Amino acid sequence: MCMSDRRVCECGRNSAFLIYRDNLLPPEILVSLYCPQCRSQVSLNEDTMLEDCGWVLEFDVDGAQVFLNRRGVTGRATPKFLFDEGYLTWQGLAPEDQEINSKLHQRLAPLIEQDLALYLKSLKSEWLAHVAKLKAAGWRKAQHA
Ligand SMILES: [Zn+2]
Repeated sequence: MCMSDRRVCECGRNSAFLIYRDNLLPPEILVSLYCPQCRSQVSLNEDTMLEDCGWVLEFDVDGAQVFLNRRGVTGRATPKFLFDEGYLTWQGLAPEDQEINSKLHQRLAPLIEQDLALYLKSLKSEWLAHVAKLKAAGWRKAQHA
């Protein structure tokens, strides 16, 4: 099971849904989160940070390394490793995916009673269109979706 969590960015104007694979890392490993509106507060340091479409995640990589070692995970705790392997990453493909997904379900819900097949088909096609949009926009996790 993976714990999920919503984190507000440094300026407080936006938030991201995050997921922690195997609950291996505590949320404090994400030292700071910058949205596109507060991104300019920092200059990117690739040793500790990862940028994804204007969002910046700053990790405590030394702390993360301790947790990885303790749980027998081999690999160096770089921002890319932590993010791409899912140890601390967006829930879904982008920071607001969780919310977009639940809104989509809510919007289509009336169809369930009327036409279940159409509901499932619409859910699938709208979600695929959303993923294609994320992919085109360059979101990191969407590139492999
Ligand atoms: Zn912000």
